[in-house]
Amino acid sequence: MTASPVLFFVDASGFRRGDPRQPQVNVTDWGATRGDGIFESISVIAGRMPALAARFDRLEASAGALDLPLIDRSIWTTALARAIETHDAVDRLAVTLVMTRGVENADSSPTAWLLARPARDFTAIRRSGVSVVTLDRGYASDAADGAPWLLLGAKHLSYATNAAALREASRRGADDVIFTSTDGLALEGPTSSLIVRRGDLVETPGVETGILAGTTQATTFGFFESKGYRTRFAGIRAADLSTCDALWLVSSVRQAVAVHTLDGRAMPVDDALTAELNSWLSDETRPE
Ligand code: PLP
Repeated sequence: MTASPVLFFVDASGFRRGDPRQPQVNVTDWGATRGDGIFESISVIAGRMPALAARFDRLEASAGALDLPLIDRSIWTTALARAIETHDAVDRLAVTLVMTRGVENADSSPTAWLLARPARDFTAIRRSGVSVVTLDRGYASDAADGAPWLLLGAKHLSYATNAAALREASRRGADDVIFTSTDGLALEGPTSSLIVRRGDLVETPGVETGILAGTTQATTFGFFESKGYRTRFAGIRAADLSTCDALWLVSSVRQAVAVHTLDGRAMPVDDALTAELNSWLSDETRPE
């Protein structure tokens, strides 16, 4: 039993434990030198994993986009179960699965690992919400069609641009970002999906705009549908965001945070609804 990070290296034949306090990845690994790889973040709450199958579906879709081989889900899942067992006193774990293209000039086998550690406590931000700036992502909403090599919609390791956008938000005095397309659509956050409410209609941008298929977005739609709201994927004009009744950024570990300020203007927030949504997202007994 431990509250320390637990690391397993994974390959097609099984998994083995590594020591996360020691250097582990080769300095010529394509993941380290080029960000050439994929990842997934899994939230484990009281030992349960909401939307696990959806995360494996997305990991495999990302692998397909980068022409990386698949590692059998049963190997990942057994390593995951072992990592959870060793943390049975920890209420919330954040688990990262990573697969890179492997080491330069070696055989072509990928480097893959699973790292499980206690999740950061996001209780305060779930209550307070975030201020957000819209930032141009620099692509049109149909860029993925003509340029699949941009890997839009894959959860790949090259998150330096997302991190740069978050630093720009911070320079502008904001906490987070909503990316927009060059043709004026709202897209997603650098690490979250966008949910928009107008009256009883709840919307999110469609994946054809080159955004990640959010697993928390899917669970969020389930929440709103259970309360009688209509839900749909839609093109959401960035210029219309400021007149919405509510905006949230949702993701698996931080869960739902309300946008209380958008580009310097106050937005309506419903603290009770946000709290209810977050309990739905945490509810480890609800069938997916
Ligand atoms: N969009 C991006 C770019 C992300 O990085 C993430 C999560 O990391 C999400 C959306 C939300 O995905 P999920 O709800 O599956 O965590």
